[in-house]
Amino acid sequence: MRPTLDIDLTRIYDNAVLMKSFLQARGINPTAVIKGFNGIDEVVGTIVEAGYDCVASSRLHHLRRVRERGWPVKTLALRIPMMSEIPELVGVCDISFNSQLETIRLINEEAARQKTTHQVVLMRDLGDLREGIFAAERFIETAVEIERGFPNIHLSGIGSNLACYGTVRPTPENLGELADNAREIERAIGRKLEIVSGGASSSVPLAVRGQMPAGINHLRIGAILMYHTISLAADELSELQHAFLLTAEIVEIGEKPTRPHGELGRDCFGNTKRFEDRGLRRRALLAIGAFDVGDCVKLMPLDEKVEVLGGSSDHMIVDIHDSERHYRLGEIMSFRLPYQSVLMTTASESVHKIIHPRSGRPPQV
Ligand SMILES: *Cc1c(COP(=O)(O)O)cnc(C)c1O
Repeated sequence: MRPTLDIDLTRIYDNAVLMKSFLQARGINPTAVIKGFNGIDEVVGTIVEAGYDCVASSRLHHLRRVRERGWPVKTLALRIPMMSEIPELVGVCDISFNSQLETIRLINEEAARQKTTHQVVLMRDLGDLREGIFAAERFIETAVEIERGFPNIHLSGIGSNLACYGTVRPTPENLGELADNAREIERAIGRKLEIVSGGASSSVPLAVRGQMPAGINHLRIGAILMYHTISLAADELSELQHAFLLTAEIVEIGEKPTRPHGELGRDCFGNTKRFEDRGLRRRALLAIGAFDVGDCVKLMPLDEKVEVLGGSSDHMIVDIHDSERHYRLGEIMSFRLPYQSVLMTTASESVHKIIHPRSGRPPQV
C-alpha cells in the first residue's frame, strides 16, 4: 500500500472549537494558520465552520484558494512580503505582516491602483531575531508614519513572533513590552489598534498559566489545531487530539546488528553518527523516508514499543524487537506526526491522502 495520510476532520473541528473558546475566554481572538497542512480545502473548510473569522498563511497561493472558495473569512499573509508579490498580496489578502517601510510604500501604491485599502500589522522583534523592527523607538515612529503617510494603508495593529528562530520563549516581560508599545502607539495616533498579536501556538502556554499580558488580543494558531508540538498541561486543553495519521508498508524485516560494520563516515545528509552496540535486534524497513516526512526520528509510532532508528531519503528503519506485535512483511505501521511531517506529507505527491469527513455529517466542502 502507498504511504497514506489519514486526515480526521472531526478531530480538526473539535481542536479548532476548543482552542477558539479557550482563547476567547481570555480576551484573545485566534486566527487559524493553514500553511502547516498546505491549505487543504477540506481542512480549511472545517476550521471555518468552527467559527474562525480570519485564516492566515505564509504562502499566497493558499490564501488565493480561500478567496476562490468564497469562505466568509479575512485572509492574512504571515510572511514579510516579497516586493515581487505585492500585486498578488493586495489582490488576495486583507491583512499582511510587515516590517519594511519601503515595502509598505509599494503596497500603498498597489492598493491605490486596485482601488482598495490594505491592512498592515507592523512586526516588532522582541529578541527572537527573525522578522520585525528591533528598536522600540523606531518601531513606534514607524507605526505613526504608517498611520499618517499612506492613504491606502490601514494600520490595523502590531505583532511579534517568538520561539521560531532564536528559541526565545514568550514571557510576561517580552509580550508585556509589545502591549506597552501598543498603548504608546494608540496614544500617538489617537485611536485603538484592532490587533495586538502576541505570537503563535508557542504563546498558548502563557495563556494556560494565566500570564498573558493585558492588551494582547490576538494569536495565530496553526500547530495546536493539529496538535503535536506543545504539551499543554491545562485541563481545558487536555482533549486536543492528533488529527493526522501516517501509515507506511514494511518492505524488509529481520534481525541485524545495531552497529554498522566498516569504516564510518557521513550519512546521506552529511551527518556523522554514533551507534550503540545493542547486539542483534529485530527491525523493519519501511517504504517511506525523509523526502516524504522530513526528520524520520521525530515520527511517533502508534505502537509505543517501536523505536524509530532513522532513515534516508526513501527508507525508514524501525526497531521492533521489543514490540508485542509480530510484524510481517507487507504489513503497515502507523505514526503520529510532528509539525514538519504534517507539512511535508500533505505536500508530498507520493503520499496518498484520505480525508475522513466529520462524523455523522457529509463532507462540508
Ligand atoms: C507559521 C506561523 C505561525 C503559526 O505557527 P504555529 O506554531 O503553527 O502556531 C504564526 N505566525 C507566523 C508569523 C508564522 O509564520
